[in-house]
Amino acid sequence: MTLRPLIQNFDLFITSNIPGGGLGYVAVQDIPKGTLLFEERPIFRLPEGVTESDVRNALASQPPAFQQQFKTLFIGHQYLANGPYLGRFRANALPCGTGPIRQVRGNVQEVVVRKLAGLLPVASRFNHSCLPNVAFQWDSHEEVMRFYAASDIPTAQELCIAYDVTSLLLTRADRRARLQTICGFECHCPACIVENRESDNRRLALYRAIVQPPQQGPAETRVDFLSRRHAQICNALTLSKLENLSYYRETLCFDGWKVAEEAGDRNNAMLWLEKASAAAATVGGNHNAEVQRRLDAARAALQTPNRQPYILNCHLPQ
Ligand SMILES: [Zn+2]
Repeated sequence: MTLRPLIQNFDLFITSNIPGGGLGYVAVQDIPKGTLLFEERPIFRLPEGVTESDVRNALASQPPAFQQQFKTLFIGHQYLANGPYLGRFRANALPCGTGPIRQVRGNVQEVVVRKLAGLLPVASRFNHSCLPNVAFQWDSHEEVMRFYAASDIPTAQELCIAYDVTSLLLTRADRRARLQTICGFECHCPACIVENRESDNRRLALYRAIVQPPQQGPAETRVDFLSRRHAQICNALTLSKLENLSYYRETLCFDGWKVAEEAGDRNNAMLWLEKASAAAATVGGNHNAEVQRRLDAARAALQTPNRQPYILNCHLPQ
């Protein structure tokens, strides 16, 4: 297979010394939300549970220049015990889809599909922020990772990704504790630098809307429950905007669609799908085939007479 040249808009940012953060990337011009920053193919991908010698062997088949570059990659103290190869791999690899892995069980050899992590040298220079302004998405068809501006990035602002997306929905104290444990650093990002009760409350409300959605109460009708859930999702979407956190926007819009769809509220369902489609386009191009397929179906359904407009008593936020 001939690989096409990657899109790499390296004129948008430079490598720079970040106070307290080593080297990182800084915007050299205003970058609009949704801009594709660059694409990168992993040097190699390995499954979960690899060993020090697996990484050393994978690296041995790479060009000497990359082997040299590998030795300069950051390794957090919590990874030192893994060894210099596995430690650097675990500290720098990003989730890169799934792939078939040959494994031996007893005396039977079998092929299983496992999650893979890939080493992306350009991306490994991103610092972490709990207010990430860069989103990334793996394209399993082309096997490339794409990095997008998740918000408008002004000139001179640092470009950051979230190393651990789960921690984005935690309070400052819980987030910092988790990042310390799994990534080995104390977070001093703009969201963590000072205590902020309002931000904590917003993230807790987002956690409840996304991770722990409510159940229907025993005395509640299905429509009342769907209205309550719908209002919660509308509120969460507003909070994510106030918090400048775009990461879960598509998930929320897709949940909004499911609620409106179940309520038979086709107009709101359509609006949610359009929002989900726009959110997907911001952080990964027009790649969400499921959203697109349902959007096409919803558009077709709206061509027929609609007797149940706007059942859910809540206006969608902008
Ligand atoms: Zn932080």
